[in-house]
Amino acid sequence: MEACATHGPSASAGGRVFRAALPPFEYLAATSVPEALRLLAKFRGRAVLLAGGTDVLVQMRTGKRVPEAVIDIKRVAALGGGVKVERGGRIAIGALTTLADIEHDAKLRRLVPLLPEAVATMASPQVRNRGTIGGNLCNAAPSADTAPPLLALDALVRLHTRKGVRTMPLAEFFTGPGRTALGTDAVLGAILVPKPPRGLRAAFRKHGVREAMECAVVSVAVAVAKERGTIRHARVVLGAVAPTPLRVPAAEALLVGHPGGPLDLLAAAGEAADAARPITDVRGSSDYRRDVVRTLVRRALEEVAG
Ligand SMILES: Cc1cc2nc3c(=O)[nH]c(=O)nc-3n(C[C@H](O)[C@H](O)[C@H](O)COP(=O)(O)OP(=O)(O)OC[C@H]3O[C@@H](n4cnc5c(N)ncnc54)[C@H](O)[C@@H]3O)c2cc1C
Repeated sequence: MEACATHGPSASAGGRVFRAALPPFEYLAATSVPEALRLLAKFRGRAVLLAGGTDVLVQMRTGKRVPEAVIDIKRVAALGGGVKVERGGRIAIGALTTLADIEHDAKLRRLVPLLPEAVATMASPQVRNRGTIGGNLCNAAPSADTAPPLLALDALVRLHTRKGVRTMPLAEFFTGPGRTALGTDAVLGAILVPKPPRGLRAAFRKHGVREAMECAVVSVAVAVAKERGTIRHARVVLGAVAPTPLRVPAAEALLVGHPGGPLDLLAAAGEAADAARPITDVRGSSDYRRDVVRTLVRRALEEVAG
């Protein structure tokens, strides 16, 4: 989680030293999921999976990771497949789908524009051409930009383990900064986005300290569906202000059953600011981040519910 670290031991460590050369490691290219799982088991936590490498290679260059082996999964067809709309309307996104492919996918833009819009704010075209959605989630930076929109869309993740395939809510996937439910011996296969509720409107907001190539100081995703002028479904999710991306059920509860007037939105934004647990680092104090949460949640809600 080096490129966009917030929270965790490395968060405020400035002056990173990039090594001229990578430390020695064994390079292995898996061609199937069972092979990737077998190699992970063989190295018992001393290997790292490589997708686009935009996080892993930075971490190896700065000495944050010194794996004995790098297991390249780019050629594992079962982890690719791009974006597919299943019968019933659920969207399946292969873990190896690049950020650029997400950004430009016509189906996603039509069905869940929140995700491609958030991805378009990430990094640079070069990094988006290389980096994958699976890598962004598995790296588990609290500021990972695909996490808030996917949580606001109630996404699930499909995991491959030696015992078989299991699906879990993305909300249970993140366990801490840089840590996930994958542990050291599982592979993320796909991200599943349920068919959104009728009339869902959603917005993503990201605040950083510079215009381009910016990791979030605070990010916010909200999603609201109304029926006859009353909010029936609400999601409020924060990024970069807690050890993991954070859904705020208390803010959602203040919206559901209400018309979404200015006072409703203000109350929900206040609840979100209270729920945030931001750190102070070189890019912003904890109080500043909390204020930004309040403002971004209110503005995003005004766009979708006001
Ligand atoms: C200059 C720069 C700017 C950036 N800007 C942003 C930004 O604005 N927002 C943002 O969120 N991120 C940003 N990043 C971080 C990074 O580009 C993304 O997190 C990217 O999506 C990582 O994907 P990847 O395929 O390169 O992952 P990798 O580096 O290959 O892997 C990342 C981690 O995920 C694991 N992994 C990858 N795929 C799988 C899988 N299928 N199953 C299990 N584990 C897996 C790897 O083992 C590793 O631990 C930036 C990075 C750089 C270098």
